Formats: sequence, C-alpha cells, structure tokens
Amino acid sequence: MKRKLKAFAASLGITETGVTTYGGRTAFVCLFPYFAGKEEGNLSVYAYSRDYHAIIREKLAHICDFLLTDCGAAYAEGFADIGPAVDKSLAYCAGLGFYGRNTLMINPRLGSFFFIGYVLTDLPMESDKPLGGKCLGCGRCAEACPGKALDEGFHAERCASALTQKKGPLTEDEREIIRRSGCVFGCDICQLVCPHNSAPPQPMPEFLKDRICNLTHDMLKGLSNREFRDKFGGRAFAWRGKAVLLRNLDILEK
Ligand code: SF4
Ligand code: SF4
Repeated sequence: MKRKLKAFAASLGITETGVTTYGGRTAFVCLFPYFAGKEEGNLSVYAYSRDYHAIIREKLAHICDFLLTDCGAAYAEGFADIGPAVDKSLAYCAGLGFYGRNTLMINPRLGSFFFIGYVLTDLPMESDKPLGGKCLGCGRCAEACPGKALDEGFHAERCASALTQKKGPLTEDEREIIRRSGCVFGCDICQLVCPHNSAPPQPMPEFLKDRICNLTHDMLKGLSNREFRDKFGGRAFAWRGKAVLLRNLDILEK
C-alpha cells in the first residue's frame, strides 16, 4: 500500500514523501519545493505564488480521493500548515529531513525551501524511520541573521519574519531588524546562506505561476479593505492585512 501511494504521489509531482503515525492514524507526509531563485523585491520567496495553502490542499485532495476510491480507506483528510499536527515534527518522524540551526527542516535532496503537507488516513501503513543527522552546523545562518535571532537558540521576538507579521506598534529595534531584512513580509536570509540550499531542485510548476515578488505603496494605497481582499486575498502575504504591509513599506523606506 505504501509503495502504491508513494507512486501515486510521484505521478502528481510529489517526489519526497514519508509515512508516520499521528493520533492513532497513518500520516502520509509530502514535501512541496517552491524555490526558483530570489528575485529583486521585498517579499519572501514563499509568498511569491498564489497562497501555498490552496496549492497544497488541491494536491492533497487528489491523494485523499485516491485513498478513498482506489485503496479502500474510510477516512482521508489533507492538511497544509493549519491542522492538528506540528508539520515539521511529522516530516522528521516520516524520515523526510533533519533540523537545521535555523530551526527549519532540511531535506537531503531539497534543502529547506519547501512546504509540508500531510494526509491523515485510517489505512494502516508501515512507518518510515527518522533520518537522524543534523545540519552542517556552519553557523552562517546565525551570522547573517538581521535580528541575531539564532544566537543561543531561537528568539522569535527578534526574527524579521515574525516581526513583519506582528500587528501594532514596533520598537525602533524591531523596525531596524525589518529594515535589515529588506522584506515587507517574511525573511529568506537564513535559508539563502545555508549550504544545504546550494543546489535546490526545480520547484513544483504551480509555484512559478502568477507571481508577485515586490510590493509598492502604489499597489496598496487607496484600496479599501474589501478591494485589498479581492485583489490579494489569495496570497500568503495578505493574511495580516493591508495596514501591516503599508507600515512595513514605510519602515523600509526610512
Ligand atoms: S528568518 Fe530572517 S530574521 Fe528570522 S531567523 Fe532567519 S535570518 Fe533571522
Ligand atoms: S547555515 Fe549552517 S548552521 Fe545554519 S542551518 Fe544551514 S548548515 Fe546549519
């Protein structure tokens, strides 16, 4: 069954898959590479395409259909980011990678520029084994981090990716971290410098379509909240709203 399911996923372009258990069910974990280079612009690479949650859910829906109609499952449900399990931990248990000092899951073939999705099902399958191992430990991510968020553990309150998504007023130190990251949403620095990402594979084609790599005041100002949602609601960078993005644009310009 596991081999059949992995072959079906591969036919959808999902080549890195693994099996573990979660909450008494089988978890079929899938990786979705998205990196095709960092463009000039102020968005993190993972936010370039249409919202990855939707892209992953569409792929996982095919796997759920396959389990329910071709494999005899009574239950199959797909999750992308928002779900009952911690996706990084599932990926680790399913043998899909190891943890980097930058807190990200690193896959030996894909590096770390991928999303994680999973399907829970009642069909029993043999679990894969964790890979073990860890990142090269070179420290480049910690050295390059604009907020020194990776010095002695991880300090989310100094991570630019978290700060660009934080609502409300920011301290001058927090604003300076965002400025140094160069991003109005997210931050790629600790991944870009990581040697595990020196030769990333081609992304899935869905992540190359309809991309936005840069935001400007002109694109946002004057839009009502409704117009903003209509125009950008299907984008990962839109989930914190227009005001946070405009604030971050102001920060980068000062
Ligand atoms: S995402 Fe950016 S700010 Fe956050 S840990 Fe990585 S390099 Fe540092
Ligand atoms: S940059 Fe070096 S220390 Fe940081 S996650 Fe990559 S290999 Fe590990």
